Amino acid sequence: MATAGHRSPKLTAVLVGDDPASAIYVRTKTRTCEGLGIDSETIELPENVSTKDLIGYIDELNTNKGVDGILVQLPLPSGVDTEAVLDNIDPRKDVDGLHPHNVGLLVQGRPRFVPATPGGIMQMLDRRGIEIEGANAVIIGRSEIVGKPMASLLMHRNATVTVCHSRTRDLPAVCRSADILVVAVGRDAMVTKDFVKSGATVIDVGINRVAARARVEDIFGEYSDWEKFNQRGYIVVGDVHPEVEEIAGALTPVPGGVGPLTIGMLMSNTLEAAARLRATSTG
Ligand code: NAD
Repeated sequence: MATAGHRSPKLTAVLVGDDPASAIYVRTKTRTCEGLGIDSETIELPENVSTKDLIGYIDELNTNKGVDGILVQLPLPSGVDTEAVLDNIDPRKDVDGLHPHNVGLLVQGRPRFVPATPGGIMQMLDRRGIEIEGANAVIIGRSEIVGKPMASLLMHRNATVTVCHSRTRDLPAVCRSADILVVAVGRDAMVTKDFVKSGATVIDVGINRVAARARVEDIFGEYSDWEKFNQRGYIVVGDVHPEVEEIAGALTPVPGGVGPLTIGMLMSNTLEAAARLRATSTG
């Protein structure tokens, strides 16, 4: 909602192709904007858009003074050069924090935009009073959007950080050294009790659709919400097995944990972008 002489902050999402999960994420983000009085729009482009044309749309958003934040929903189709697209977002509007300038600033410990998912996780740890300084933090997954920025953020807060990935040897043993375990892999219920030290804080970033009834039974044993499963044809499960609740000191739920926080942090980044652009605007 704008008042006289003041324009509302505005977030523009760019959605390429027709991946249903991406469409849901973008809709959730724009709906949250509406609820907060942040203007939003979604530019929908076909799966076969060229990198050049997509960069052309980004250029228009870069120069449009009515747009404060630009969000390119990932993953982009395989035919698009994702790095080239991200490199062309104005770093001052890059609310996902994926432009190389913003990545560099984060690595140096002076972030302009903290990527929303790890930013939300830091908020969660702080607000829960989880001690980060001196803690052993293990991250599984080394993506640009979660694992790598998470490592930087925890390191700058004086945690001892280990980043694991698909080639890590004896992953459960490495994870058992963690006081804080962040899991961002994308494999349903992969992290079992065997990965977790008693009392550890476990952050489950994974969002996995499980559509096979047998797999749901395998994960949950006695599953109690078949009505929901039958209605949708799948359920959403994290990367952490539910049995970890028995051993962890704290465990984030999926759905309802890191996901909503991520959207909250994206909103916060959009407001910051708008405030900074206004502070530096000469017009
Ligand atoms: P990604 O999908 O780009 O990469 C997966 C990472 O996991 C890689 O670094 C890979 O090395 C590692 N990995 C794969 N198999 C492994 C194995 N067997 N053992 C150890 N490591 C392994 O990562 P991403 O984009 O961070 O996504 C990870 C998960 O987090 C997905 O489920 C995604 O949907 C979810 N996610 C959630 C949010 C949110 O808001 N909650 C945000 C981003 C991603």
